[in-house]
Amino acid sequence: MGKNKQALCTICCRETDDLIIASIRGEFDTYDVFFCRGCNVGITAPVPSHGDLKKLYAIGGYREKTGKRFIPFVEYFILLFRHMRKNRIKKHIKTGRILDIGCGRGLFLNVMKDDGWQVAGVEFDEDAASSAASYYGIEVISGEPHTWNFVPASFDVITLNHVLEHIPDPKGLVAACNRLLKAGGLLVIAVPDLGGTQAQVGKINWFHLDVPYHLYHFTNKGISSLLRAASFNIVGKRHFDLEYSLFGWLQTLLNITGIKKNMFYEMLKAPRRWKTALAGASKKDILLTALLVPLYTLVSMVFSLFESYASEAGGVVEVFALKAGDDTK
Ligand SMILES: [Zn+2]
Repeated sequence: MGKNKQALCTICCRETDDLIIASIRGEFDTYDVFFCRGCNVGITAPVPSHGDLKKLYAIGGYREKTGKRFIPFVEYFILLFRHMRKNRIKKHIKTGRILDIGCGRGLFLNVMKDDGWQVAGVEFDEDAASSAASYYGIEVISGEPHTWNFVPASFDVITLNHVLEHIPDPKGLVAACNRLLKAGGLLVIAVPDLGGTQAQVGKINWFHLDVPYHLYHFTNKGISSLLRAASFNIVGKRHFDLEYSLFGWLQTLLNITGIKKNMFYEMLKAPRRWKTALAGASKKDILLTALLVPLYTLVSMVFSLFESYASEAGGVVEVFALKAGDDTK
């Protein structure tokens, strides 16, 4: 049993006592995940206070201020993945004005800008917003949706890449996206899939559970109904993502093995973080990581491909949805 009795689902405004993952130790507290059967989403309880959330993003290195976040080898692939995301969007909309919500250091928006798009970003953390703005020279604002001063119906595309699960009011944010998109505009949302095989196998060890950073844990069904309820038509879905699915499996398998939780992920960040990553790790943790990473990488490739194509239940789900009422084309 976890220590929390229930959680409030802000999507349907109902309490749920359906505990699915108990006693996850995290920053500030021990957390539980409850499931709302009406909305098909998991909910983290307790919800960290506004002040604690601010602290989480400041101390966790979740959003690096400027420059590189990972070691160069990893950075190369991250840039490649951003180009692949651009190409997926261009299958639906060739060019126009794009808003990236939770744009972090602005790497993806910079790729879009170089491709001729008009770009704007939102980053909830003020420091990250101003540094992304000055680093790439792009418009990035911060703050909650009600303070954004974007003109309604002014964007062709809005992207939320692994952002919605961090938001206390996901329904409100999806509604805000609907207001800001032109009719027929494209909303692209990627979230970890709580209903996927990776989550089911990993449970408390699942890399993408990431409590308390993740306040909501969407399923394929849950994200789809949230979008339909907000007047979006779903036009595409992906269950495989080279970046998130594969690494999700790899780190989940390492966690299940009993190696210090997320140690390998922390090591892939800048070398100056290695001290933090290796703090409290035993020689066995380091040896096992070195031995198992090559083997688990192969296993992860097979698992990722199998789960996404055979069962449509990958580690993540990316949904492409058009704002209903297409009167522009
Ligand atoms: Zn609900």
